[in-house]
Amino acid sequence: MPGTLYVVATPIGNLEDITARALRILREVSLIAAEDTRHSRKLLNHFGIRTPLVSYHEHNEQQRQEKLLGRLSGGESIALISDAGTPAIADPGYRLVRACHAAGVPVSPVPGASALLAALSAAGEPTDRFVFEGFLPTRAAAREESLRAIRDEPRTVVCYETPHRLLATLAAIAAVWGGDRPLVVARELTKLHEELFRGTVGQAQEHFGTERVRGELVLVLPPFAAIAPERDLTMVLGELMGVRRLSRKEAVKQVAKEFGVPRSEVYRISLEIDRSEGEKESE
Ligand code: SAM
Repeated sequence: MPGTLYVVATPIGNLEDITARALRILREVSLIAAEDTRHSRKLLNHFGIRTPLVSYHEHNEQQRQEKLLGRLSGGESIALISDAGTPAIADPGYRLVRACHAAGVPVSPVPGASALLAALSAAGEPTDRFVFEGFLPTRAAAREESLRAIRDEPRTVVCYETPHRLLATLAAIAAVWGGDRPLVVARELTKLHEELFRGTVGQAQEHFGTERVRGELVLVLPPFAAIAPERDLTMVLGELMGVRRLSRKEAVKQVAKEFGVPRSEVYRISLEIDRSEGEKESE
């Protein structure tokens, strides 16, 4: 009988966020595979756990996988942990999990903290549907391209970000989405300097631009539809341009102000209205 691979979540800051089941599993397994053994040793010492640790990270995934699979197939159970939060979520792990499934080794999640869900749960933005973008690309052109691709995303978008890239990312969001777009910056969640910044992208640039940004960050970007239902905005815009015969410039200005939406966005919708009107006429 093979052992089980337990995918164990560990705290993202506050050590009280480890679950009772996680502690028991970490004590009971034969081996813990950790992203950084020195980092995880501190966590285990804190809870008096003496289980042997072995490293499993993106640079040794391939070779380590075979050894771990060998031990699992031989009947030992192993816990997989990452530096913080849930393994395999923007962290190493999913290849080992997949390999276990392929080899018939049972996999069992031991859920707990994850920065993604912690940020979403406290952001106060729509969560019935959301998209996790992970880390945006580091190169400026690729980052802008990604932001353009998700600009009209109807679901809340969540991204991980590093403190030294935050200002560049905010500038890119302002350039592509407009500085008026609201967002939430969840910083140092569950830690001493926890902060939930809510405001527009422009306000965030001001807020975080004054001194060096520190700590770990999650960005939560509500969908455009949550700011102003596009149908209503479209109706008002269509009425202003079609019935009241306002110029595009004037109509866009009024609607942008009324709905608190960037003019560039309203301008884009005005072109779409023209396009669909044109299609109706040619039918
Ligand atoms: N697997 C982890 C999880 O489930 O939360 C995420 C690992 S990912 C490599 C690390 C990123 O998660 C950080 O760069 C940051 O964006 C986010 N993060 C981790 N801890 C955080 C915290 N306490 N507050 C805010 N963001 C955090």
